[in-house]
Amino acid sequence: MSPAPGYDAVVIGAGFAGLYMVYRLREDGFRVLGVEAGDGVGGTWYWNRYPGARCDSESMYYSFSFLPEFEQEWPLEERYPTQPVILDYLRTVAGRLDLPKHFVFGARIDSVRYDDQAGWWTVRAGDRLAVTARYVITATGALSASNRPQFPGAALFEGEQHSTASWPAEPVPLAGRRAGLIGTGSSGVQVLPELARQAQSVTVFQRTAQFVTPARQERLDPRLVALWKANYQEIRRRTKFTPGGIPIPSPLRSAAELSAAEQTALCEEAWRRGGIWFLDGTFSDAVTSLETNAIVASFVRSKISEIVTDPVVAEKLKPWTHAWGTKRVPVGSDYYETYNRPNVSLVDLRQDPIEEITARGIRTRSGEHPLDVIVYATGFDALTGSIERLHVEGRNGDRLEDAWAGGPRTYLGLMVPGFPNLFTITGPGSPGVVTNVPVAIEQHVEWIADLLGHARDHGHKTVEAALSAADEWTAHVQDVANTTLYPTADSWYMGANIPGKPRVFLPYIGGLDVYRQRCDEIAAAGYPGFELGGEPAAAAPALAVTPAEERGAAEVGRGA
Ligand SMILES: Cc1cc2nc3c(=O)[nH]c(=O)nc-3n(C[C@H](O)[C@H](O)[C@H](O)COP(=O)(O)OP(=O)(O)OC[C@H]3O[C@@H](n4cnc5c(N)ncnc54)[C@H](O)[C@@H]3O)c2cc1C
Repeated sequence: MSPAPGYDAVVIGAGFAGLYMVYRLREDGFRVLGVEAGDGVGGTWYWNRYPGARCDSESMYYSFSFLPEFEQEWPLEERYPTQPVILDYLRTVAGRLDLPKHFVFGARIDSVRYDDQAGWWTVRAGDRLAVTARYVITATGALSASNRPQFPGAALFEGEQHSTASWPAEPVPLAGRRAGLIGTGSSGVQVLPELARQAQSVTVFQRTAQFVTPARQERLDPRLVALWKANYQEIRRRTKFTPGGIPIPSPLRSAAELSAAEQTALCEEAWRRGGIWFLDGTFSDAVTSLETNAIVASFVRSKISEIVTDPVVAEKLKPWTHAWGTKRVPVGSDYYETYNRPNVSLVDLRQDPIEEITARGIRTRSGEHPLDVIVYATGFDALTGSIERLHVEGRNGDRLEDAWAGGPRTYLGLMVPGFPNLFTITGPGSPGVVTNVPVAIEQHVEWIADLLGHARDHGHKTVEAALSAADEWTAHVQDVANTTLYPTADSWYMGANIPGKPRVFLPYIGGLDVYRQRCDEIAAAGYPGFELGGEPAAAAPALAVTPAEERGAAEVGRGA
């Protein structure tokens, strides 16, 4: 008989995914430990505290669906929840469910190793923590491993430098200061108007012009909120069976079925409504047909010309490098309008690239731009980054980075062959990032918890993805992507923002509804494609590490 590991499961991360996973496993009777690098819960919304940080999913959809009483209580005040509101929401949920006591905070996991003989994992955070567990679940976030390009001279800069992805908790003083913003993806688009309002001047360093959609943020009418709340359960039910985790009607008609006047009228109406209504609400073939895509792209470019008063700046802001929608479309408030302010200037890095950062600012080919603060909105090593940074070693000491060297291979985005009892939430092959993410997270968490319950009930000690099943799923993920225009863009969906990262389409774009059905069918059929094993063959070696609970309860439950 093997000695038991310290925990049944270790869950890494305390965002939406980690909180719900820890809750579900605890409720299902597993001994579970959560570990989080930050000093509290919140994940994305703990780290991304930059001015203007906000969710692009609308308030009533961006929350857990498994708390029907709490959702009635929780106020919905604005169309899109801001970062402080979401952080408050997650802290409140964690408190209500008494979750912080199950977490170790301030511990960044840097080693996750499988012991073949013992059949368990050893999870370490430097010398801060070492625990053993039968299962490891990475809830480390698809967009949490931040990417900060190393510009020559950056260490010499005498002003302040901040990443949007790890913004200080205390406000950064901007009044009277000259700010430089590198990056115009979703975070750059959100932070720019706030920087422009607060700073003396802002210089934007743009590598890729974006198709920004207006958010149309507004205060919600309490009568509308009351109506939603009265129907919340039905809205949630429908949400689960949508492709993108938001129950808006999908457009039924392709552009070719409409006259030019009708096409323009449709785009105008979607643009007026903003957000998801423009992203998902124009034509059925907006991201599959080049011709239709060109209509949407040209419409957005015409809006840029209408909004931006300086025609030279407007031209620089018009995207020509990728098809509309094939990079994540930023949703902005006054983004293009901000370029009409006298204190905002734009540097097009394709014509005038950054050469170095100096003590006093950023030097591009055309000269030095003096700055007091540099803001990096340079994105993430998406989907794979936060998992690979765990330095996972599976069977026979095989490293996950090596297994994924040619591109990630997963079964359903949930398991990797050769890495038994390791589950990934919203990792590569999952639909997570192309949906309203909490809806995908809930599906993953519930499905994983059900599988672990099944394994326990049937005496299985190991669960592992079969190689053939992972190969089939990974090929399917690419095949579905190839029916769209997505793979044509240099996007983070394709890993193109990280030098050396294999160029494959990372998320599953076939729809959360289709994905959910497939997962349900697999569960109902007794988990084909997963190998469910018995007791580990050999006795485990003596425990080389100490479970956190023996190191003192003080470590567990601090923070939040
Ligand atoms: C600026 C921004 C805007 C977004 N807007 C939207 C939106 O509009 N709609 C939407 O659906 N989604 C949006 N997202 C995606 C968002 O990440 C998800 O909605 C959701 O918050 C993900 O939750 P999670 O728990 O999976 O991951 P996260 O919230 O990223 O949490 C992961 C946690 O794991 C921790 N962690 C990672 N590695 C380690 C380690 N080695 N050791 C210990 N802890 C670790 C991190 O510290 C983090 O706290 C946005 C993301 C960003 C960055």
